[in-house]
Amino acid sequence: MKFGGTSMAGSERIRRVANIVRRQQAAGHEVAVVVSAMAGETDRLVTFCREANPLYDPAEYDVVVASGEQVTSGLLAMTLQALGCQARSWLGWQLPIHTDDAHAKARIEGLDSDALLASMAAGEIAVIPGFQGLSGDGRITTLGRGGSDTSAVAVAAAIGAERCDIYTDVDGVYTTDPRIVAKARKLKFVTYEEMLELASVGSKVLQTRSVSLAMKEGVRVQVLSSFIDDDATPADQIPGTMIVSDEELAKLQEDLDMERQLITGIAADKNEAKIILTRVPDRPGAVATIFGPLAAASINVDMIIQNVGRDKGETDVTFTVPSADLLRAQTLLEAQKEAIGFNRIITDAKVAKVSVVGVGMRSHAGVAATMFRSLADRGINIQAISTSEIKISVLIDEDETELAVRVLHSAYELDAVD
Ligand code: ADP
Ligand code: ASP
Ligand code: MG
Repeated sequence: MKFGGTSMAGSERIRRVANIVRRQQAAGHEVAVVVSAMAGETDRLVTFCREANPLYDPAEYDVVVASGEQVTSGLLAMTLQALGCQARSWLGWQLPIHTDDAHAKARIEGLDSDALLASMAAGEIAVIPGFQGLSGDGRITTLGRGGSDTSAVAVAAAIGAERCDIYTDVDGVYTTDPRIVAKARKLKFVTYEEMLELASVGSKVLQTRSVSLAMKEGVRVQVLSSFIDDDATPADQIPGTMIVSDEELAKLQEDLDMERQLITGIAADKNEAKIILTRVPDRPGAVATIFGPLAAASINVDMIIQNVGRDKGETDVTFTVPSADLLRAQTLLEAQKEAIGFNRIITDAKVAKVSVVGVGMRSHAGVAATMFRSLADRGINIQAISTSEIKISVLIDEDETELAVRVLHSAYELDAVD
C-alpha cells in the first residue's frame, strides 16, 4: 500500500491512512506501507536548497529533501501503534534500497527484503519512507519527484506482493487530469504501455519509472483513493484503476463486451523549457557538440527540431529540457559557445507539452490530423511536435495548456456523458 502526499498531510489524515492499513491487515493480508512526505513539504525543502545555492550540489539536495518522508514514516508507525497494531519503520538506508549515484534522480538497483519479510511474518506492519535510497558509496539518494510510487513498486516486487495499491487523492486514472477537465472519465483498466506513455508526458498520477518497473517485474498495480469512508468498496474488489497487460485488457474487453477507445488519455506537462541556439554551423558533428555536454550533466533533452539550414551553412537548433534543468543547461551551453559555434541562446520557460496517447493509434490514420486541426481552430500555435508509436506531443504556449487539453478531450470524444 502506498499513500501520497495529500493522504499524509497532517495527523487527521495519517489516522485515516492508519485505519485503511489496519483494515487490510484485518482482511488477512501481511502489509508493507510506503509513504510520501506531507503535501507541499518536498516543495518547501527544494525552495530552501535553491535559496542556499541556485547551483546546489545534488548530493546535499538529497540529504535535505529525503527528510520529508522520514517524518511521515515515523508518524504513521506511531499512529498504527496507537491503534493497537504492531508497526515498524524502515528507512531507505536501513533496508537498504540500493540505488546508483545519480543524486536527485537515482535509479533503484536492488532491495534487501530479508529483514522486511521477517518483520512482516512476525505480524508487524512495515512502514517505508518512499523516495529514499542509498548509493554505492553510502550516501542518501532520492528517486526524482514523485518517486515514492517507484519505491512502492520496488518493495512490492521485492516481497512478491499480491498487489501494489497506490492510494492517492483521486479514485483512479482518468482520461485526463480530472482537476483540469471536469468531464474526464475514470478508466477501469489501462495498459502498462499506455500508462507509461501517459506518465512520461505529464500524468503525474504515477511516476514514469514506477510504471516501467511494474511492467518489467509484472507487479499488479491499482490506483485508488485514500479519501474513503469505512463502508467503501474494499481494495481487494478493485474499486480503482487496474494497470494490466495488453493481453489481459483484450481478454477483459471481450468478457465485458467493452469497446476500445482510439485515444486512452491526454496529458499536459508545464515543466518543460525551450532552448533555441541560433546560427549553429550546419555540418556533421555540430549537434553532437550541443547534446554531448548536456548528456554528461544528466540533462534529458526531449523534443528536438533542427530548422532548415540558413545561408552560409548555418542552422537554428530548438529543443526542450526539464524547466528545473534550464539554468544548468544554459550555463553549460554558454561555457561551450566557442566549441559549438552558435550565435545566440534564446530560452523560454513559458511553454507546455500536450500529448494524446492511445494504442489505437497504431491501426488508425488521422489521429495527428485531428489534433492539429482542433488546436488550429482555437488559434493555438504549435511550436514543436514529437511522436512515438502510441503518442503525439505538441509544444504550445503555457497559457493555453488547459484550453488545449479541453479541446482535445472533446475532439477525441472522451468527455463523460451525464
Ligand atoms: P500523490 O501525492 O498521492 O502521489 P499526485 O499529486 O502525485 O498524488 O498524483 C495525483 C494527482 O494526479 C491527482 O490529484 C490529479 O490531479 C493528477 N493527475 C494528472 N493526470 C491524471 C489522470 N490522468 N488521472 C488521474 N489523476 C491525474
Ligand atoms: N515527496 C516526494 C515528492 O514530492 C516523493 C513523492 O511524493 O512521491 O516528489
Ligand atoms: Mg505522486
